[in-house]
Amino acid sequence: MKIAILKEGADGEKRVSATPETVKKFTALGAEMAVESGAGATASIADADYQAAGATVTDRVTVLKDADIVFGVQGPDPMSIAGTKPGAWIVAGLNPFGERARVDAYAAGGYEALAMEFMPRITRAQSMDILSSQSNLSGYKAVLDAASEYGRAFPMMMTAAGTVSAARLFVMGVGVAGLQAIATGRRLGAQVSATDVRSATKEQIESLGAKAIFVENVKGIEGEGSGGYATEMSDEYKAAQAELVSSHIAKQDIVITTALIPGRAAPRLISDAQIASMKRGSVIVDLAVQQGGNVEGAVAGQVVERHGVKIVGHRNVPSRLAADASALYSRNLFNFLSAFWDKEAGRPVLDEEIGNAIRLTQGGKVVNERLLAA
Ligand code: NAD
Repeated sequence: MKIAILKEGADGEKRVSATPETVKKFTALGAEMAVESGAGATASIADADYQAAGATVTDRVTVLKDADIVFGVQGPDPMSIAGTKPGAWIVAGLNPFGERARVDAYAAGGYEALAMEFMPRITRAQSMDILSSQSNLSGYKAVLDAASEYGRAFPMMMTAAGTVSAARLFVMGVGVAGLQAIATGRRLGAQVSATDVRSATKEQIESLGAKAIFVENVKGIEGEGSGGYATEMSDEYKAAQAELVSSHIAKQDIVITTALIPGRAAPRLISDAQIASMKRGSVIVDLAVQQGGNVEGAVAGQVVERHGVKIVGHRNVPSRLAADASALYSRNLFNFLSAFWDKEAGRPVLDEEIGNAIRLTQGGKVVNERLLAA
């Protein structure tokens, strides 16, 4: 049973899909670990660290030769894994909706592609959930990015020269990233408020010591779809939300947006007029920028300025914390495959619930229902 760990090929991707810790753990299960030379360099892991943990470190062709499983953070370019044996598993964040042509190429290559972001949101799969582990770091980093772009301090400071008032920070979208953004903003001393469409988040916001800003009295709104995800809201709700947000946003110094709806473009939460209502020098971080953006005028990969307000649109925020993001991602992969490790077969054997949810291709075809329905 051979597992190949590739050096990521995507532009700006600094993470890696295994660490010396997970190499050791997989080796203990009986797997042979082969790491492409330099794979960990951008996540502060040297080739020698992988070797010391029991992996062989070599060139890509040798790493892929006879591999049963190929790990990636992002899906590898199909051309770059040519020569991998048919039937091999490709286990990575495959961005199935965004990279459909690549999924088709995996099918054509005879690979079994497993999309980690399709992991079902069930209790036993929590430790395997890459969306959670990476979003948590994004929420943290978004606040640090905002703090470094902001020309003022976050905490209130009473100094001999006078008082500096605390920054007002507003978090829109209180999933995994939003909760961490609230906690991080509080740790830095900001005055934090937050909003979401799912009413269940109100208590979570308050338990972190932040103020919940919620649309009240709009009929028929639950806001919660399957698996704890949000649903598209009614027009009446959207209008009420826009009004509430408009008056609140004008008083904020920092806004972090994280709102996503699975399988759809991110909802637009902040208009140009709302940006214009904010004080000069304020900062907005749009964590949904790669899914279409929550903020009008946000540009993926750039920090732009509109009406004197900076709009931060970094791509791939978890990769900006490459060492921790890699450590957590790698543990997600280990937790996943070790949970299904069949000692007799000497390899993982998936059950139906999780296998069917994450398997995109098999036997030369695209087999995933969610993807086929899209
Ligand atoms: P997400 O990344 O899909 O979305 C981020 C947040 O944006 C969500 O809270 C969503 O409700 C919110 N949102 C969507 N549209 C909005 C709008 N128009 N205005 C304001 N907010 C809007 O969500 P997520 O971070 O993946 O987490 C969603 C939920 O799933 C959380 O409650 C989380 O705890 C839960 N979860 C469960 C598991 C598990 O059980 N295995 C794993 C991960 C997350």
